[in-house]
Amino acid sequence: MTEVGNTDGRLKHGCGIMGVYGCHNAVEKVYYGLYALQHRGEESAGIASTNGKVIQWHKGMGLVGQVFSTEDLKRLENTAAIGHVRYSTVGLSNPLNAQPLVGECSFGGGPATQIAVAHNGQLAEATSRKRFLESQGSLFQTTCDTEVILHLMARPEFSSDLGRLFKNLRGSFSLLILTPREMIAVRDPGGFRPLCLGKVDGGFAVASESCALDQVGAEYIREVAPGEIIYINKDGIRSERFAPERPSYCIFELIYFSRPDSHFCGQNVHQFRRALGMKLVEECPAKADIVVPVPEGGNSAAMGYSQASGIPLDRGFIRNHYVGRTFILPGADSRSRKAEIKLNAIPGVVKGKRVVVVDDSIVRGTTSRSRFGLLRKAGAKEIHVRISCPPHRYPCYYGIDFQVKEELIAATRSLKEITKFLDVDSLGYLSIEGMLSCTSSPKDYCIACFAGKYPIPVEEEEKKRVPAIPEEWEERVGEHSIVV
Ligand code: SF4
Repeated sequence: MTEVGNTDGRLKHGCGIMGVYGCHNAVEKVYYGLYALQHRGEESAGIASTNGKVIQWHKGMGLVGQVFSTEDLKRLENTAAIGHVRYSTVGLSNPLNAQPLVGECSFGGGPATQIAVAHNGQLAEATSRKRFLESQGSLFQTTCDTEVILHLMARPEFSSDLGRLFKNLRGSFSLLILTPREMIAVRDPGGFRPLCLGKVDGGFAVASESCALDQVGAEYIREVAPGEIIYINKDGIRSERFAPERPSYCIFELIYFSRPDSHFCGQNVHQFRRALGMKLVEECPAKADIVVPVPEGGNSAAMGYSQASGIPLDRGFIRNHYVGRTFILPGADSRSRKAEIKLNAIPGVVKGKRVVVVDDSIVRGTTSRSRFGLLRKAGAKEIHVRISCPPHRYPCYYGIDFQVKEELIAATRSLKEITKFLDVDSLGYLSIEGMLSCTSSPKDYCIACFAGKYPIPVEEEEKKRVPAIPEEWEERVGEHSIVV
């Protein structure tokens, strides 16, 4: 599920999902799984569960730990449940758009039944689909594209043939669907967003990232394949292909979004990032005294840079863990101030030194400039910035929140101009080829935000669909002050 908004210049992506079927304490497991996926969505959280007859749910704005009380979890406890943590990339950040979305329809051709849907991704044609559905009498209650999926599932031509529906749906979608009878996992043919399957306490678990399976003691089985639907019910597990695989795995999941302890596309995320850092030494060496990561995103790549270059690694920044993720405020000054609250440089480490500072990406550049400025203030003699991915020159329409090209610093400025803007001594980005050489199957990745080639066409209407989060929401959510 995907609206724009930004964290202190950091990127938001569209959500994390977790489901458990067929074992005791399914709700508790989903709850802990969502904790492990909290980095994928901090705006809202929700869980829907079933006892085989009815679906009940609880959701609200805020972090997982804020949304659910012990009483909520006790009330929900059942043997099957799905959950969701949300960052908005399409649809406002408000309680109505919190997921799972729950509706009622004659799903599967039978009598009317409840159905809950949790979505990670972004549809490439949500607006036109919505318009069509409205012309047919559908009434939408939310502004998120996930509701389009829910309405389509209710239509007679699709309700008894989900494969037909998903074959006809364009965009990125990793989904969990819960009915009183079963849990269904779906991944789009491109497999943009991750989704993996595991076994736990005699039942099954499905999660956006393997770290959530680890969290609940589930044994990892495999990824849900692109173009696959998995039905999990009392009879066991059944897999169906609704479309051939056309892998377009989001490489930025490996570079930035996923947790370092997760596996994606057969690779451990931390090890992949470390390899990027090593490659970065080959392409952008620097003469320096220390390597300093921008925590947490630059940690693994900085380790690789240090190992390959022989330049000692040190902590030049300390992160304030009590601030939470900061969100973009109207003025650039406010953004910089918030970024400074999150990080502080250690003068004793950087003073008088030539510092290589490694980060995973630069988006607008404003936050990066203030961060590197902290090193300067702390007495660094030289600052050489190394970025473990290529410059972001194009928007993402597949579930990540940079949808406006003009906001990307590398889309409008040269390397020299960015270096000047950041006020650093040198700047080096990893090349596209260098990045892909760290993967086992370079052709299987989406690199649209770096190269501008979009694996799935996106309707013009969708490109313009950059929603505005009301400022007060952004700020309040960022301060974790909302529990609805
Ligand atoms: Fe990922 Fe970039 Fe492709 Fe979006 S455009 S899916 S961020 S690789």
